[in-house]
Amino acid sequence: MEKVDHAFVDEIVKAGADRIRTCIQCGTCSSVCPSGRRTAFRTRELIRKALLGLKEEVLSSPNLWLCATCHTCLERCPRQIKVTDAIIIMRNMAAEKGFMLPEHRRASMKLLETGHAVPINTANREKRVSLGLDEVPPTVHSHKDALDDLKTIMERTGFKDLIEKQEAEK
Ligand code: SF4
Ligand code: SF4
Repeated sequence: MEKVDHAFVDEIVKAGADRIRTCIQCGTCSSVCPSGRRTAFRTRELIRKALLGLKEEVLSSPNLWLCATCHTCLERCPRQIKVTDAIIIMRNMAAEKGFMLPEHRRASMKLLETGHAVPINTANREKRVSLGLDEVPPTVHSHKDALDDLKTIMERTGFKDLIEKQEAEK
């Protein structure tokens, strides 16, 4: 049986989701969640488990990665809990512990390499040209200096090491 970690919610609060303890389990977050309509992900359940201190279960669950970070729950929560922030905080903890879906790891690798989680492809390049636009958008795709800056940020924040470590361990 999983050990209950009462400090888990303290960590979440400290990281910025300061009202999470005021959750009344009303279920509004689950009822408005677009992801929950299509998957087994239940926002209310996630918050409940976090409050109960089920850290290992929450952080290792693939469901944690099914939130689309649309912020609808955050806007609708009657207790004004920063639900989306809490989920991102828990994802950061999960990533630190080596839990991350392969899709997110791949997107992160693309970000490290190109500066975009989804870099432009040939079809979109051709579409832009056919519309009279530059072949690539005015992002890191067309500004190498900005890409270098971004890579520096990813190195200095530890993001690069984190993702490369995950990639090596997969
Ligand atoms: S909407 Fe807010 S108060 Fe209601 S269950 Fe979700 S987090 Fe808790
Ligand atoms: S932010 Fe995430 S949990 Fe909240 S409603 Fe959107 S998809 Fe659901």
